[in-house]
Amino acid sequence: MSEYQMIINGQKVASDATFPVINPATEEVAAQCPKATEAHLDQAVAAARAAFPAWSARPGAERGAIIHEIGKAIEEHQAELVSLLTLEQGKPGTGFAGMGAAFEIGGTLAWCHAAADLELPVEVIQDNDEARIEVHRKPLGVVGSITPWNFPLMIAIWHVMPALRSGNTVVLKPSEYTPLTTLRFAEIINDLLPPGVFNVVTGDGGLGAAMTNHPDINKIVFTGSTATGKKIMQNASVNLKRLTLELGGNDAAIVLPDVDVAAIAPKVFATAMFNNGQTCAALKRLYVHEDIYEEMCDALVALANSVTTADGSTDPDFGPVQNKAQFAKVCAMADEARASGARFLTGGEPMPGPGYFYPVTIVADIDDDTRLVREEPFGPILPVMKFSDVEDALRRANDSPSGLGGSVWSGDPQKAAALASRLECGTAWVNTHAMIQPDAPFGGSKESGIGVEFGRYGLEEYTNIQTVYISKT
Ligand code: NDP
Repeated sequence: MSEYQMIINGQKVASDATFPVINPATEEVAAQCPKATEAHLDQAVAAARAAFPAWSARPGAERGAIIHEIGKAIEEHQAELVSLLTLEQGKPGTGFAGMGAAFEIGGTLAWCHAAADLELPVEVIQDNDEARIEVHRKPLGVVGSITPWNFPLMIAIWHVMPALRSGNTVVLKPSEYTPLTTLRFAEIINDLLPPGVFNVVTGDGGLGAAMTNHPDINKIVFTGSTATGKKIMQNASVNLKRLTLELGGNDAAIVLPDVDVAAIAPKVFATAMFNNGQTCAALKRLYVHEDIYEEMCDALVALANSVTTADGSTDPDFGPVQNKAQFAKVCAMADEARASGARFLTGGEPMPGPGYFYPVTIVADIDDDTRLVREEPFGPILPVMKFSDVEDALRRANDSPSGLGGSVWSGDPQKAAALASRLECGTAWVNTHAMIQPDAPFGGSKESGIGVEFGRYGLEEYTNIQTVYISKT
């Protein structure tokens, strides 16, 4: 039997069937995880539904206080959660620029406490002799959260804490690749919440679809691929589920010729390779003006050649690609790019196994139609394209079905901001990329998603408006 168990209605629940969780650095089985049946899902949803009236009726400040307690509990178990993340996700504890597993757990704390302090005040639209009209924000009911493998715990916190803060109850399904940190987290905080308020079920095929089809789930919040996001949207029509979809990005960055290449290259590199490139809003397409193209390529190659990629437990700069399918995708996209005539400046071949290791790879002189440019590789590989006319760079940057983030880099921030505002994306950065924080809304345009996360705007996504009209005549 698995030492890891699901949490349903405040109880630890095993399953007759299990599935293996693979350590991506060794390809060995790290642990067995319970495989939920549809009956388990029904129990979890029923528990969440039963817990909803009392939880939603509690004063918001009480729910916020419990969420602060959850943050404290994460902090007390920080070291254990960091090790578990490295084991199942592959990321090193500290990692490149201090952005490894400890950074992720630090992020969970920041987002947890920020969500705890959010408010949903009643808005008064009118208050005169005729009527008082108020806008209230009401929780939706049961929220189904489907979380990915790139930031397993941080994204769980992004989904769950605003849902709970606004009075919903939750059923969460972590990625089958990285369920362990989430299960341990649920166990740690189980005593802090009333039974049924937060449930975790695990499975490796079909469970996400069953959640999306479930008539007693009122909203799905999903972070993952656009393809799966589209399926979720189709199925959500069964009971008009509300949706927040944070989907793939293929973020472009435009580097103007007036930059100080030596100064910006480390930032460009770090935001492209953040989490080994497995970040939805990482910089994934780099458009560089021809005057500084070779200088930028040289600077990036020097950085790439200075970092280490190895088993995350030895705390290198970067660990393995998280799973076999993703590793195969990165390898295939690199091979296709090479076959198309692109110039590989460094990396470009998988490292010897075991483990899904791919070196940091910089690719120059690559055609925009190559799959490595058209689609997100979601790995440690960056295509660098040349431009001579800034309007052409903008057109190429916007020529994508994705629209999560984008950036412009320049010595003149105002000029850069004007150009960045013309990028078709949810967040436009100037002289940085992939910077997010708990109080700034984050979400995609085009096929990168629906809705936003974080702060007041994110919180409101877990509510319906109720307009209260009090006649005075
Ligand atoms: P997916 O986007 O396919 O998501 C997998 C998750 O979705 C699993 O939990 C799965 O659960 C669930 N799921 C699958 N089908 C459905 C459905 N019809 N309805 C509801 N849930 C469903 O992830 P992959 O791991 O396959 O990654 C594919 C690509 O996604 C990556 O290459 C990367 O480009 C992108 N990605 C983006 C992320 C981001 O942060 N935006 C994060 C991770 C990946 P089950 O099988 O049990 O139903």
